Amino acid sequence: NKTILLASRPTGTPTLDNFKFENRELPALQEGEVLLKALYVSVDPYMRGRMSDAESYVAPYAVGEPISGGVVAEVVDSKSESLPTGAIVLGRLPWQQYIVHNGNGLSKIDPGIAPLSYHLGILGMPGLTAYFGLLHIGNPKEGETVVVSGAAGAVGTVVGQIAKLKGCRVVGVAGTDDKVAYLKNDLGFDEAINYKTAGSMKEAIAEACPDGVDVYFDNVGGEISDAVYLRLNKFARIAVCGQIAYYNSTSAPVGMRVEPILLKKSALMKGFIVGDYADEFSVAAKELATWVQSSKLQYQETITEGFENIPQAFLGLFKGTNTGKQLVKVADP
Ligand code: NDP
Repeated sequence: NKTILLASRPTGTPTLDNFKFENRELPALQEGEVLLKALYVSVDPYMRGRMSDAESYVAPYAVGEPISGGVVAEVVDSKSESLPTGAIVLGRLPWQQYIVHNGNGLSKIDPGIAPLSYHLGILGMPGLTAYFGLLHIGNPKEGETVVVSGAAGAVGTVVGQIAKLKGCRVVGVAGTDDKVAYLKNDLGFDEAINYKTAGSMKEAIAEACPDGVDVYFDNVGGEISDAVYLRLNKFARIAVCGQIAYYNSTSAPVGMRVEPILLKKSALMKGFIVGDYADEFSVAAKELATWVQSSKLQYQETITEGFENIPQAFLGLFKGTNTGKQLVKVADP
């Protein structure tokens, strides 16, 4: 039974050396427990924060202990009445092929709603992040301009599409020409910018947003954000969702001061963690499922095959190798 441990804390960009594979014996199943087989493992940018021991909103991973995160798993043996063999569950679980679990914190998935993997993406944490950040903080109105950075990723693709459903003009920023084409041709974004080849982001944003920017959904930070701030309209809203441009930095970020702009534009800037909205998850997940089932939201995944490739898939997030949600398929149900 293979497991993946945090071997060491990264300095700067993580490498494969920060991970260690180990075989761990499984304890015998006790009353109330289930044996889980991992099917899909989610890799997410926030895990980079947990690899370091800096203070954050989630506890760091311990060196020498399994890395954990969102996993969809199948109950393959059960001594639990509520989780019979064959049930599919979602939970925060260790990166491990098989897991003995007491059932606490696991939620049962209805396989009839959507493909199982969707519960780690558009119907799960990233989809909810897009939903709450855009609708509760961005509060987009018909005809307004919404800019989203990290636009071709798990969160960004959902943000842009919901903004389109709300009748907005949507501009995405992403890191390859293929992603730009995908956003415009497949997801119906009005404009998309490749930040790696655009030259001046200030000019590119100005050109793509002739009427200014009313809502900025920020997944990235850095120079992309600075360019957007310069185009903010009066009463603009900025949802600070992620700052991936800094996750591997070894020094504190420096750059433009945004406060004079916020003041002049009466703009609202708010950071958030998806868990802030936990009380409203079930309502939002239902609405997202309805949009997916009626094809109002398109969904893309980048699925890497094989347990041994989990670290590689995680590292790819920082190189932009994924379009849509990055997952690892570990086993068939
Ligand atoms: P993505 O699927 O968007 O994957 C990460 C993407 O970020 C990559 O594909 C890459 O795309 C882009 N990227 C990587 N490095 C940089 C960089 N230096 N500058 C600009 N872009 C970069 O991940 P998620 O959708 O899961 O997450 C998106 C953001 O949202 C992250 O910052 C994450 O931490 C945050 N988040 C926040 C949550 C919250 O509760 N606040 C919850 C979930 C996610 P490209 O090719 O375009 O460079």
